[in-house]
Amino acid sequence: CGIVGVVGNVNAKDVLLGGLKKLEYRGYDSAGIYVNDKTGTPTLIKRVGRISKLEAAIPAALSGTQGIGHTRWATSGAPSIENAHPHVSADGRFYMVHNGVLTNAAQLRDKYLQDVTLVSDTDTEIAVQLLAKFVAAGNDVMTALHKLTAMVEGSYAFAIADRDDASRIYAAKSKSPLLIAKGKGFNALASDALALLDRTHEFVELNDGELVELTADTIHIENAAGATQNRDSYTLDIDA
Ligand code: GLU
Repeated sequence: CGIVGVVGNVNAKDVLLGGLKKLEYRGYDSAGIYVNDKTGTPTLIKRVGRISKLEAAIPAALSGTQGIGHTRWATSGAPSIENAHPHVSADGRFYMVHNGVLTNAAQLRDKYLQDVTLVSDTDTEIAVQLLAKFVAAGNDVMTALHKLTAMVEGSYAFAIADRDDASRIYAAKSKSPLLIAKGKGFNALASDALALLDRTHEFVELNDGELVELTADTIHIENAAGATQNRDSYTLDIDA
C-alpha cells in the first residue's frame, strides 16, 4: 500500500504513475489515480491488480496539475473497483486516498452518515464522506480536516483533492508513513521518498497528528491544535 500526491507545474499523471510503480513493493491488490486537468475536468481511474493494468487504462493525453494516487492493500472490504481508492464524497467534490486502518469507522458511519449512501465497504469512504459533510456545514477544508482527524481512531496517511480547487492538495498523517517532497514549481507527497526521487531530492518530514496544505510553491504544516509548524527541508543524497 502506498500513496502519492502532487500539485503544480508538472504532468500530475506522470508523477503519480511513476511514484506508484516505485511503491509497488509495499504490496497492492488494486490501484487508482485522480487527476484534475487544467480545464477543471476531474478524471478518476481505478483497476484491480497490477499498476501496469492501471497504466494501460490511463489516456496518454491526460494532463493535469493536481492529483492523488494509491496502491491498496485491503484491510476493510475485499479487493474490488468499488473498494479501490481514490474514494469520492457523495457530492462529488472531495477525492481521498488513505493508507492505514480506521478502527472506529463503523461507529462513525452509524452516528454521522445514516443519510449517505455508501458505495464501498471501506473505512476510507467513511472518512471522505465525513470531510465533505463538515465542509458542506460551512467549514473550510483545513478546519474540516482537523475535525475529521480529531474523530478517527487507528492509523492513517490521507491525501485529499478538492475538485473545486485544483491549486492545492491536503494531507494528514498518524501512525502511517507520509512525507512531503519539495520540487521546482511543484510540491508532492508520498509514503516513501523512493516514490519521488526521480523528481526531487528535497524532502520535508511530517510528525504524527500533523495536517498539510500544499500548493505549487507553498508547504503549510499545522499540528493537531492548528498551530503552524515551520520545518526545514533536507536533501536526500541517494539515487532512485
Ligand atoms: N483501510 C483502507 C482500505 O482497506 C486502506 C488500506 C491501505 O492502506 O492500502 O481500503
